[in-house]
Amino acid sequence: MCYTIPGKVIDIKQGFAVIDYFGEPRKARNDFFDLSCGDYVYAQGGFVVQKVSMEDALSSMEAWRELFFELKKIDNRLSRVDRPGEKVGTKVKRILNKAQNGLPVSRDEALVLLDITDEAEKGLLFRTANSVRQKVLSNACCVHGIIEFSNFCRNDCLYCGIRKSNNEISRYRMAPDEILASVKEAVDLGFKALVLQSGEDYHYTTEIIEGLVTKIRKEFPVLIFLSVGERDAGFYRRMFDAGARGVLLRFESSNRKIYSDMKPGNSFNDRVDHLSFLSKLGFLIATGGLLGLPGQTRQDMIEDIFLAKSFGTEMYSFGPFIPHSNTPLKDQKIISSDEAIKFIAVARLIVPDGKILVTTALETIDRGMRRLGLLSGANSFMLNVTPVKYRKQYEIYQGRAGIEEELKIQIEEALALLKELGRAPTDLGVS
Ligand code: SAH
Repeated sequence: MCYTIPGKVIDIKQGFAVIDYFGEPRKARNDFFDLSCGDYVYAQGGFVVQKVSMEDALSSMEAWRELFFELKKIDNRLSRVDRPGEKVGTKVKRILNKAQNGLPVSRDEALVLLDITDEAEKGLLFRTANSVRQKVLSNACCVHGIIEFSNFCRNDCLYCGIRKSNNEISRYRMAPDEILASVKEAVDLGFKALVLQSGEDYHYTTEIIEGLVTKIRKEFPVLIFLSVGERDAGFYRRMFDAGARGVLLRFESSNRKIYSDMKPGNSFNDRVDHLSFLSKLGFLIATGGLLGLPGQTRQDMIEDIFLAKSFGTEMYSFGPFIPHSNTPLKDQKIISSDEAIKFIAVARLIVPDGKILVTTALETIDRGMRRLGLLSGANSFMLNVTPVKYRKQYEIYQGRAGIEEELKIQIEEALALLKELGRAPTDLGVS
């Protein structure tokens, strides 16, 4: 996002560039540029997304230098675990100690953690997750933009407000030029990674989306994620060749029965095959599911994390299911924000090095959860870059947080939060 930090290329090997940030070396994949040592670049999502002139880089780095170390200090201070005198059961303490020391958390242990109800234990879980995040990934925070370009969908998922059979919402499609204008606005405001999302809308043919991706890549230094649902292998191959590098595709639930109940006409195996295939093609995978679907158990939720992990996932996207009044699940209860934060914390202990999102849905059920999520293991979130006039129509659920906020205001709020928490709105790639 705004003021991503430029870095200096200090080594190049097998498609990767090693980039130096104020003495910290990080690796980023380089698919797009002809780089030499000494070049200055921006990296996002583990990818080099832009080459910049030395002059621009140095002036930006000068502006960053002090803040870079100051933010780290704040993050370090907020990532302390111990609270002397706090009473925590030995079982929970033992598991959290293990996680704190970098050992993997098993399914059974994860379940113990997800079952926590005691306030002190919960607090320790959240702080341990935050500390693991800090130790493994430092204070880097990923802020992607999302453009929801069409709310037409051929699917009829029971949980979703833009399902085919919801006749009460007005449908919209953004023309490619409108999408490009939104991309330009976002890039001008500093975004370095954007998700293009829609319902499963075949109005946008392979050629249309390919043309769009090609144009974006040509005109803007930005990492492109597609979130358009299941398409055939040829589609995704062409998108990769056109320069898209990420796919956001949730498997929604690792429980096959829930999956097929929720998504009539869709197959769980197809979903899993898609994700495996996309991962093999070289896409960064962003995936996850819904928390609080009918029939979902805590075991299912743990399994969700392990399933996501099995695809070599880059970004974990799990958010509460929020019933929409015009769907068959309108009377379903929403999971509490507390449960959702516990889930984020447990996910962090299972995948110490993953990017874990705080979703807008979580912020919607309880304002302030973005902050708490970031303090409990999460290290990324998205801002809505869709033109305000369309946002409300992309009504997967009602009352979405930030729906009427101009992008500039969203950015200001996000930056204030990141500063407060000592996070750098950048993505320093993999170390
Ligand atoms: N066509 C794309 C995007 C689908 S919409 C795809 O298939 O991946 C994006 C996400 O919104 C879905 O993956 C789903 O998890 C989430 N979503 C849908 N309805 C929701 C609801 N009622 N509450 C919370 N999230 C919801």
